Amino acid sequence: MKSEAGAGGTVVWFESDLRTADHPALARAAARRGPIIPVFLWDGGAGWADGLASRWWLHHSLLDHREALRRLGLDLVIRRGDPLRHLPEFARSVGADLVTWTARSEPDRAARDLEVAGALRRAGIDVAVEPGSLLHDPARIRTATGGPYQVFTAFHRRLSGETVYRSPLQVPPIRSVHALPPGCDSLVPEDLGLSPDADETAQFSSAWRPGEDGAHALLDRFADGPVEGYGETRDYPGAAGTSRLSPHLHFGEITPTQIRHRLTAAHGEQPSTEAFLRQLAWREFAFHLLHHFPDTPTRPLKPAYEDFPWEGDSEALERWKQGVTGYPIVDAGMRELLKTGWMHNRVRMIAASFLTKHLLIPWTEGAAWFRERLVDADLANNTLGWQWTAGCGADAQPFFRIFSPERQG
Ligand code: FAD
Repeated sequence: MKSEAGAGGTVVWFESDLRTADHPALARAAARRGPIIPVFLWDGGAGWADGLASRWWLHHSLLDHREALRRLGLDLVIRRGDPLRHLPEFARSVGADLVTWTARSEPDRAARDLEVAGALRRAGIDVAVEPGSLLHDPARIRTATGGPYQVFTAFHRRLSGETVYRSPLQVPPIRSVHALPPGCDSLVPEDLGLSPDADETAQFSSAWRPGEDGAHALLDRFADGPVEGYGETRDYPGAAGTSRLSPHLHFGEITPTQIRHRLTAAHGEQPSTEAFLRQLAWREFAFHLLHHFPDTPTRPLKPAYEDFPWEGDSEALERWKQGVTGYPIVDAGMRELLKTGWMHNRVRMIAASFLTKHLLIPWTEGAAWFRERLVDADLANNTLGWQWTAGCGADAQPFFRIFSPERQG
């Protein structure tokens, strides 16, 4: 067993955790003595960053992260390739004896990571997988009978009853800065072909500031004001009443631990803070469901809806996508999505209900469009949101809740 203070190098494998603070894997590397080699491997982003809007965000987030690491004296190595084939070879070539990363919860990536860990260990390289993206390990929360939760209120009650939350970690001090080993060449984000300059994303930069600093600026803005009225205003799309932190959370530029800590420190147990933390718990629930029901991105959680007689009119789908259905609240949301890559939660529900319950178009079509166009496109949250609205997912009032686009407007 090698000692924690061993002199070998440590590879920190970044993916959807593009931050330097509250990063247990980076902190682990910094606590060791040898060189730290941060690496990002682009394999097409399946399941977490494969849409047009996500790729725009990723490009800018990578630029920001590379600078943040440089300020610590670290050079981010960017490569293209399948981690399973590339990472053991890379770790060996830079003389690393430990590779560490943040646990990933999307089932495909978690399975891939298990294989990567096995390949590294077979090559004689230690592995440390650290938490960070979620408040809870989705695999470990179980009902009294040992199964997964399928009802949010019971899941939430369980979390509220038992959890002791850790404090966020500071950016770790890097004790000694080492030059990258020879042959450790890197691409630049521009080489990844993420199409950051597409016409469709031309207006995104006036709405967003991807990266860790942008995330904390938004959190500060939210904590200094809107959180106090969140319980009242979060349902009104016309009010800037929500945090807009979703893309930053998705790309791991900020953690739920940091958000939780900041808000409870500033606003204690106020009802509005509780209302906000409840929404963060929905995110935990989404990952819990995706972990236990990995087919749900394409199949209903409730099998009875497997053969639902959708009607699927492609012209109506196209009008919905372009925001020209003739229903103002639906169209406003869909056009906001096209222009900014984001949509208010209430309007997501109205637009999704309209697609599935008025137009009778399969929820998977809507989920695919959101995945392409949302800057916060997230396999867990998007699947939960669509199944919940379509009525085939984790919800006690499934098919008979239909949002009226007139009344909601
Ligand atoms: P806030 O109200 O400030 O909430 C804070 C955080 O809590 C959010 O950033 C998000 O991480 C989490 N959260 C809030 N509401 C929910 C929710 N209902 N379910 C799960 N997590 C939640 N969210 C995504 O992050 N990615 C998606 O791809 C996505 N697709 C959705 C699709 C549909 C059809 C629906 C109805 C909802 C979807 N959501 C998705 C959930 C929700 O709409 C967004 O998380 C929220 O609007 C983001 O804005 P905010 O950061 O200002 O949220």
